[in-house]
Amino acid sequence: MSIPGIETDPEGKKRSGNGDFKVLPFLPSRGERAATGLCGKPCALPARLLVVALFAAFVSSGCTFFAIAPATVARMDGFDAQWRGFNSLKTDRFDPYETEIRIKVIVVDDMSAIGYPGAVATYSHPEGAIRIVGKKINGKIVLCPAVLGHEVQHALEYQDGGFANPDKLEEFGY
Ligand SMILES: [Zn+2]
Repeated sequence: MSIPGIETDPEGKKRSGNGDFKVLPFLPSRGERAATGLCGKPCALPARLLVVALFAAFVSSGCTFFAIAPATVARMDGFDAQWRGFNSLKTDRFDPYETEIRIKVIVVDDMSAIGYPGAVATYSHPEGAIRIVGKKINGKIVLCPAVLGHEVQHALEYQDGGFANPDKLEEFGY
């Protein structure tokens, strides 16, 4: 499609030999445009805002022995910025909407293993597979919420049909 950096892939069809097969890559150059992977737990947002407020209090009080990793600050800032954008959207009222989808998540440690040059994640349909670059830290796999959220939205878009294409959110003023 026309948005540079985030594309619906015509090559995925060729690679699979299946006309219905699509690979939807998530490219890092426009990563900040992706939808936030807002988790289903209602406590998640207040908890994050509390941590940000605590951090601000430490900074303003002149505390120098307590530090939050730059990556943590970047993640929280990014989350807050994406939420502000989403929260500014107008919405029609609707009843709770429930759906179930099936996703296979394949985590790799290097972009080259994604199989799509330049992408940090892809969603393949109808395979239902998200391939995503992860990190392994202290024995646990860590993922970027924005990237994972973007690909989950592709899964919802393709498997349910009631969800917007996250590559075309501009069409919804987002
Ligand atoms: Zn996409």
